[in-house]
Amino acid sequence: MSLPRTLHSCYSPGMDYNSLILVGGAGGFIGGALVRYFHDRGFTRIRAVDKKPLPLWYQRLPEAENLCLDLSREENCRRACAGAVEVYNLAADMGGMGFIERFRVECLRSILINTHLLEAAWRAGVERYFFSSSACAYNTDLQKDPKVRALKESDAYPAMAERGYGWEKLMSEMFCQEYWAERGLATSIARFHNVYGPFGTWDGGREKAPAAICRKVIEAKDSGSGTIEIWGDGKQTRSFMYIDDCLQGIDKIMHCGELVATPVNLGSSELVSIDRLVDLVEAVAGVKLERRYKLDAPRGVAGRNSDNTFIQQVLGWQPSYPLAKGLEHTYRWIEGQYRDRKAGGGSTVS
Ligand code: NAD
Repeated sequence: MSLPRTLHSCYSPGMDYNSLILVGGAGGFIGGALVRYFHDRGFTRIRAVDKKPLPLWYQRLPEAENLCLDLSREENCRRACAGAVEVYNLAADMGGMGFIERFRVECLRSILINTHLLEAAWRAGVERYFFSSSACAYNTDLQKDPKVRALKESDAYPAMAERGYGWEKLMSEMFCQEYWAERGLATSIARFHNVYGPFGTWDGGREKAPAAICRKVIEAKDSGSGTIEIWGDGKQTRSFMYIDDCLQGIDKIMHCGELVATPVNLGSSELVSIDRLVDLVEAVAGVKLERRYKLDAPRGVAGRNSDNTFIQQVLGWQPSYPLAKGLEHTYRWIEGQYRDRKAGGGSTVS
């Protein structure tokens, strides 16, 4: 069956519903959701790869070819890319502020994944390659005030990315751009701004703010402590994109001819403070907690928002899933995980 074509859609000429799609990082939050997304849209051959052992994947689709491989190794990238028509790189050693401020070497080493995967994709004759970049690639000097001006794509240069994680993203973006310029591999680069939703990390040190706050509210309710610890002064601002918007955005960006090798923001433009985020989670949980601010905790930049002028102009679309609704889904999922774990379970696999 041929693929649907819209004004901006630009599926690879060799692409049909039986073409092989590779998703790297498929055991993680976004990669796992992406495998399900393509499967639900009728794609029959999906190779899902992650270095985590299969039982630890957040979502594992029995219909996909699920492989446990370390993609920072060249030979594994060659194996993963063999026969693929499209490659999506969602694999990275990453986490929330607590992780990326503390483990900069691990973050930088993710450059091996993209470097080997791009080369293997090009050698295998892959038609399109997607790279998951981050808003952490932006110049940190522009993010010192909670009342930030939203970041537009050109704000990455002159470069002063976030140490470790942000520089890895910026360098990997450049690899993607040069593989297009010099070797003709069509690459797509999306700069994600805080993605949240069910089937993601919610404890253990790699969780990001929305999941961490949901878990802390659940713990406070469970223990009856009546208090919550917040990293920073609660005034830091961010925008948060629900996973469904992220998946649609990846698909649209990857299949838009005008966006080849062109970094584009993929994030919500609804700016909220961390205090507001806590208000919203408390409303879902039906509690009001006393807030204790941990001022020496990792807090990242003071403010960050996504300027969506460019994506709106090119795609006529931008993420719009309401934050309150997305948090409700996320909270309920984490609550279920928390309950299962307490009851002696603990598997996050769907
Ligand atoms: P995640 O940690 O849930 O998933 C990443 C997955 O990559 C993990 O399952 C991990 O095991 C896997 N991985 C790490 N090293 C690997 C290797 N060498 N070989 C194979 N697999 C490996 O993170 P996520 O939130 O799903 O993020 C996906 C991508 O999006 C990452 O590139 C991340 O930097 C980017 N991103 C995410 C956010 C966000 O808010 N979640 C924001 C900006 C950018």
